[in-house]
Amino acid sequence: MHYDVLIIGGGSAGSVLASRFSENPDCQVALLEAGAWPSDPDIANPAMWPLIQGRSYDWQYATVPQAGTANRVHAWPRGRVLGGSSCLHAMAHVRGHQDDFAAWAHATGDQHWSWQGLLPWFIKSERFSQGASAVHGDAGPLNVWLPDEDLHPLVKSYMQAGLNQGAPWLGDHNGGKLCGVAANSLTIRDGKRVSAADAWLIPARARPNLTILLNIQVEKLLIDERRIRAVECQRDGKTCTLSASTVILSAGALASPALLMRSGIGCASELAESGINCQIPLQQVGKNLHDHLLAAGNVWLARQPIAPTRLQHSESLMYLNAADIRQPDAQPDIVLGCVCAPSVAESFPQPQPGTTYTLLCGVTRPTSRGQIRLTGAHSRDPLLIDPAYLQTDYDRQTFLKALKIARQMGNDAALDAWREKEWLPGAEMQDDAALNDFIARAVITHHHPVGTCQMGKTSSDSVVDGRLRIHGLENGYVVDASVIPSITSGPVHAALLAMAESFAGRF
Ligand code: FAD
Repeated sequence: MHYDVLIIGGGSAGSVLASRFSENPDCQVALLEAGAWPSDPDIANPAMWPLIQGRSYDWQYATVPQAGTANRVHAWPRGRVLGGSSCLHAMAHVRGHQDDFAAWAHATGDQHWSWQGLLPWFIKSERFSQGASAVHGDAGPLNVWLPDEDLHPLVKSYMQAGLNQGAPWLGDHNGGKLCGVAANSLTIRDGKRVSAADAWLIPARARPNLTILLNIQVEKLLIDERRIRAVECQRDGKTCTLSASTVILSAGALASPALLMRSGIGCASELAESGINCQIPLQQVGKNLHDHLLAAGNVWLARQPIAPTRLQHSESLMYLNAADIRQPDAQPDIVLGCVCAPSVAESFPQPQPGTTYTLLCGVTRPTSRGQIRLTGAHSRDPLLIDPAYLQTDYDRQTFLKALKIARQMGNDAALDAWREKEWLPGAEMQDDAALNDFIARAVITHHHPVGTCQMGKTSSDSVVDGRLRIHGLENGYVVDASVIPSITSGPVHAALLAMAESFAGRF
């Protein structure tokens, strides 16, 4: 079978693309997904999100030991299911600060990637609970809900602590500014998670020109000169090939670069180590891997029992400028979050639910850069994932500032009724060297790996161009978290969905 458009990966970006391309009844679209239809009812329950990792629909990746985090190995969950990682994620919908996108426009020389350029696509993607405005849409596929009275009372106290300490009121993470106090906007409808598949694919799946193939894993792209002739897949233990005029990789920040490398696209000397003949030399494939980390964290013993969340545990991310937390307009450099449940890295004992709360803290725009490498030519060979966490002075110093500001918030009078005493790192720990050591043992992934097929201007600085076409190929594109050249200040999902909307809309 030959398709007009073949999309590899039915995750967040792939769901948007399959839906939008198949709106044209003359376009034959195939969506290939390694996982199955989501059948576990726990996926829909927002409070279950931390507990569904490690199940059969999680790829269960792991990093190599990280020198910057006390040689710890970090588990990296990723969805292997229709909807991809949007079926595992924490549902926080944060577009980022408007200046985050100036870096994308600069990297590509294309103003389309600026905040103003992407704004129509953010608006198109969403159905905002507070209605339409100059920055919000109310007719898109994705429910974005800004809760109010459902917030946990502990989280309300933490937000008040932020205001008491001088942070400005923000109210909404999605208007272009990001510094200040706001509840998280959530992709939840009627108490249930809305995955990208729920929002975009379910309404589209009956279209006769959309073929959704599940439990099919793409092994590699078959390339003739400058074109992808076909894709080679495994299904039920058998090899098959499918062809298309246009092939879009949406397998995610780990699998898309791996797929390119298995197909002979990457750094020639590195591919040779895995016995792969280089067909298109592209040095940047797999490079520029970066991720948000959160320290879990600044943990407090509670003076009163803490009721379970009615939402998704972490209900208010607070973005701040560490040099002056009163600053409303700056691009924030740190983030705090209040988890109304124990959130503690595996280095420390796990407290009983209801006994502690955690002030998470982290760096919004880390400068450490790592990479993904193959360890063999086959997809069963494990990926070598090295995010090089906390390898720059900037990242370590900014983390320290974030932890100090989290402790300041935790000691604010607004939290008097909740606070018994600081448990981690513990009030007696004040020395910077000891705090740095604590951070190394306390950080966990915020689950936002990006950058491994970054967009840019040339084949030496990037993998795809500003139209997301793979350098050196006429009919191959990458549209997923891997093309993000520099991470947004907040979680990346909202920006990724707008990117997929804009790619389909401009194609
Ligand atoms: P994915 O959604 O991962 O999709 C890739 C798809 O490709 C998957 O379905 C996969 O099975 C499929 N695939 C892979 N390889 C192949 C192959 N060879 N053949 C066929 N199919 C293949 N972001 C936020 O903004 N807010 C949050 O609160 C948040 N919390 C998170 C919590 C967790 C636990 C996780 C894991 C992520 C979280 N994220 C969050 C990040 C966000 O979910 C991801 O950045 C986003 O979903 C990535 O989308 P993607 O399209 O790049 O990849």
